[in-house]
This record gives sequence, C-alpha cells and structure tokens, in this order.
Amino acid sequence: MQAGTQANTWNRKALLCSFETSRTQILLPAMVLLLDIAFCSVGTAIVLLADNLLLKLLGTLVVTLAIVRLFLVGHDACHGSFFSSARLNAVCGRIAFLPSLTAFSLWEMGHNTAHHGFNNLKGRDQVWAPYSKAEFDALPGYRRALERLYRSGLGWGAYYLYEMWWKKLFFASKKEVGSSRRKYKLDSLLVTAFAAAWVGGVVYAAAATEQSVALLVTLAVIVPFLLWNGVIGFVVYLHHTNPGIAWFQNRQEWQRNRAYLTSTACVRFPWGMDRLMHNIMEHNAHHLNPGIPMFSLREAQQVLRDKFPELCDYRITRRTYMDVVQRCKLYDFANHQWLDFDGKVTARVTLANAAA
Ligand SMILES: [Zn+2]
Repeated sequence: MQAGTQANTWNRKALLCSFETSRTQILLPAMVLLLDIAFCSVGTAIVLLADNLLLKLLGTLVVTLAIVRLFLVGHDACHGSFFSSARLNAVCGRIAFLPSLTAFSLWEMGHNTAHHGFNNLKGRDQVWAPYSKAEFDALPGYRRALERLYRSGLGWGAYYLYEMWWKKLFFASKKEVGSSRRKYKLDSLLVTAFAAAWVGGVVYAAAATEQSVALLVTLAVIVPFLLWNGVIGFVVYLHHTNPGIAWFQNRQEWQRNRAYLTSTACVRFPWGMDRLMHNIMEHNAHHLNPGIPMFSLREAQQVLRDKFPELCDYRITRRTYMDVVQRCKLYDFANHQWLDFDGKVTARVTLANAAA
C-alpha cells in the first residue's frame, strides 16, 4: 500500500466534488427505492403463497437481496447523498432501514461519525478493529474463541449480528455507544414496531392459508434477517481488512496516511454482484467523499484508480479471500504488521507516508 507518492499534492474536497449529489436528485432515487420495496414485497409474497418449498426458498433469497439493497439506500440517505432533499433522506432512509432493523440515528452516529470520521483508527472506529497480541491474550477464553470464529472466514454473520447490530444498532447502551439520546430510543422503537408488524403479518398469512406458522416466519423473516447479517458482515470485513491495509492507534500517524483512502479496499465481485449491491464495493471513492451517491460511485472510483494505481483493488476469488482470512487475525500497531493468533508475522504493511 503506497498511496503516499502523490498523497500530498491533491485536495480531498476538490478531487471528486463533481460526482456529488446534484441539487435536483429526486426521481432516480425515488424509482430505486420503490423498485427495492417491490423486490421485498414480491419475495415475501413468493414465500407466503408458493406451494413448493424450493420456490419459497427462492423467495427467501429475494427478500434477503431486497434487505441488502434497501439497507444501502438507507446508508446513502443517512449520508445525505441519496435524495437532494434532507427531509426526504431522513424519512425514506428510516423506511429503507426497516427490514434490516437498523435504527437510523444509531447508524448515523456509529457509521457517519465514528467510522467515516476515523476509519481504521483503533479506539474510534469500531468496525472489525483488530486486537493486538497483548489485547487478545488478555481476553477471557470465550471472547478469544469468538474472535477466532469471527475471523475464521465464515464468521461475518455472527460478528455483525452480535458485535454490531445487537450491541450498537438496536437500543444500544451508553456503555457501547458513549451517549444516550432520545432519538436513539425512538428509532429503535420504530424498528421494533416494524418487526412486530412484519412477524404479525406473516403469522396472519400462515393462519389464513393454513400453513405452518413456524415455517413461514422462518423463511420470510428469520432466515432473511440472518442472511442479511452475513452479507453485510462480509462486505464490511472486506472494506477495511487486507494484508496491505494498515490500522492505527496513533491519530497523527493515521492522519498523515490519509487512511480514508489508503486503508480502504475496492473489492470486485463476479456476476455483476457489485451492481446488485448498489456499488458499495467502490469503497475508496465512498470514503474519500461520502457525498457521492451510489449512482456515481463507479465513475468516481475509476478516477481514483487512474490517479492512485497502488490502492488496494482486487477481484475476489477463493484464493484472494483465503489469503486475507489467513493473514489478518491480529495487528501489531507499533510495527504495522498483521499477525496470526500465535503472534507470528503474516504481512508487513508499507505505510503511505513512508512512500511520500
Ligand atoms: Zn458510508
């Protein structure tokens, strides 16, 4: 990772400002939101009404995809980049977050402020922050086992469900998020009311069509919600974890390295999955300027790719993914090295400022 060569010769605000949300951005986002709500409704209808189990499972996958897409609409709205109107972003963002049971204001605080403000700075950014060897060794046995599970290559769902959603995005305690505000409780109540209505509607449909309540609630609500946690856990893991990407403990060092650009990866998926996920993998551009809407991220990322060819940018395959999983377990913040759980060095990170 050597994005420092040109790192001091450009201005963050100016570089991608032409891709920011236009002042009249209403129609396109409205259509995308309605399309994703329609996806969610069609998927749910298939689960509830199909008389074939395979078709019902297909419906479960459609609902899961719709939850992911709606969440990403909410993510843009929360950044203020989806609609050009702040009021529409606040209202539609809350609606889009409902199926993922995400409390809008808690997400805003944890994501916009802590993650975007300080990505890859230990102590401020909470998302997939690695432990040092000493921190890991001091953990109780059960927490060490959890960390091994989370970073096993298949533990993203468990990580996101427990460490992110349960602790920080749904009735989060002051201990977890540092403050206690009325809007956090109101937004958590809103998603609770939605969850009750969602489950209630499915129970009603099961009774009306004489089907198993347990089966329909499992396929229409529980499995999509768990799969959604797996998808988002996987996505956010890939965004900031890589043998070439640094984590920091020292704020000046973090600042010198422009971590919003250099400690962020662009991971390319096969079969158009990037587009299905509203281009969220074009992540350097998103971190450099969260005011860029999903519709312009691909072009913005291409500008960065041309200007900084040394940025972490790769196609995901079994081999590239397993390389990340096997090498990124713990982090040595003093020497900028990734370690395995025994403390053995698995990768040395070249800092951007060292190359400048
Ligand atoms: Zn964001």
